[in-house]
Amino acid sequence: MKVMIVGGGGREHAIAMSVAKSSKVEKIYCLPGNAGIEEVAECAPIGPMEFEKIRDFAKEKKIDLAVIGMDDPLVGGLTDVLEEAGIRTFGPRKNAAILEGSKAFSKDLMKKYNIPTAAYENFDNAEEAVSYLETAKYPIVLKADGLALGKGVLICNSFEEAKEGVKEIMLDKKFGASGNTMVVEEFMTGREVSVLSFVDGKTVKTMTSAQDHKRAKDGDEGLNTGGMGTFSPSPFYTEEIAAYCEQHIFQPTVDAMRAEGREFKGIIFFGLMLTEDGPKVLEYNARFGDPEAQVVLPRMKTDIVDVMEACIDGTLDQVNLEFEDNAAVCVVLASDGYPVSYEKGIPITGFENFKDKEGYYCFHAGTKKNEKGEIVTNGGRVLGITAKGADLKEARKNAYEATEWISFANKYMRHDIGKAIDEA
Ligand code: AMP
Repeated sequence: MKVMIVGGGGREHAIAMSVAKSSKVEKIYCLPGNAGIEEVAECAPIGPMEFEKIRDFAKEKKIDLAVIGMDDPLVGGLTDVLEEAGIRTFGPRKNAAILEGSKAFSKDLMKKYNIPTAAYENFDNAEEAVSYLETAKYPIVLKADGLALGKGVLICNSFEEAKEGVKEIMLDKKFGASGNTMVVEEFMTGREVSVLSFVDGKTVKTMTSAQDHKRAKDGDEGLNTGGMGTFSPSPFYTEEIAAYCEQHIFQPTVDAMRAEGREFKGIIFFGLMLTEDGPKVLEYNARFGDPEAQVVLPRMKTDIVDVMEACIDGTLDQVNLEFEDNAAVCVVLASDGYPVSYEKGIPITGFENFKDKEGYYCFHAGTKKNEKGEIVTNGGRVLGITAKGADLKEARKNAYEATEWISFANKYMRHDIGKAIDEA
């Protein structure tokens, strides 16, 4: 089979490496890919929103399976464009990707189908939002409706902060058109857990759980980022909690989408908060998480291509989805200054240390090859260093050891990824 992956981050590197393990696959292409993905796939400089170019490329290369890793092209309808051209595509169509593309839609869906989530109100008028916030209980959460690179969520401790937040989101349009509508949501407390799942329109099969670290600095301080590290599984996601989520959240979400005429096929990422009143949905994503994919996929035993095809064909109920009985930790190596401003183009060394090291992975995110053929930094999040271990503590020790194998001048990382493990 010839497989084409759309995207070029650490997540797509993890997907590409999983796809490469499949005995059915003879060739992988990645658009646009990056310096690490090049090792397993042929990369071509086509951007994720260049739908016509992607379609023409897929037709020319006679692609048997397209895999869309990123949110923007999914929400924009790339699956529909490829399917219309007769290309089998893994990832929801536009009318289903709205589950991630509009928070107002997803909140209304959860309310209609009694799926546990925080209380909320949607606003498309700034004045009405402000007048509602005058008498609200604090802290409170403001969310831009649309995609905002994971940054469109503001937690406000006072009315003054919230008023400023409304201005940023709805009037100054800090997140662009994503802020035309805004969700105001009750603040929840508890542990967060990410559960990724494969969905074929009616059946949902969950993967092993994971926990992300979104803030830039140790101790969960600093700005929100795309994610600074992850571990899997989450020791707080017990079998009892999993059974509850299966019955009250996962299956009901898939059924609700079908009932709405928005059959969902692909990945649903459930961002959950384990509150005192039980698990509640924080957010849905319509694709693998990044960096969650970097700890979940290396632990997956089942052939990912078989699972993706079953999702497309509606035969997921026949798949036995299995994961290794171990643990993995991913520590992101970023450019110092991320997520605000940082230098790019800095040479990176040490990749050879990962060669033939079973259970260690160096996933590329923001990297590229310069004119001299050196691999240099090309983004805020540069690499995801993942290691497996018999348990979480061993995996964490291994991952931090492996972070030392890589050098670049402005290398920055959090030193407390997986600290929560000690409290389990
Ligand atoms: P989201 O993109 O909706 O997952 O929000 C990003 C992050 O903001 C989440 O991972 C939480 O840490 C936080 N967050 C979002 N919604 C809430 C909420 N209702 N209560 C508390 N924290 C929240």
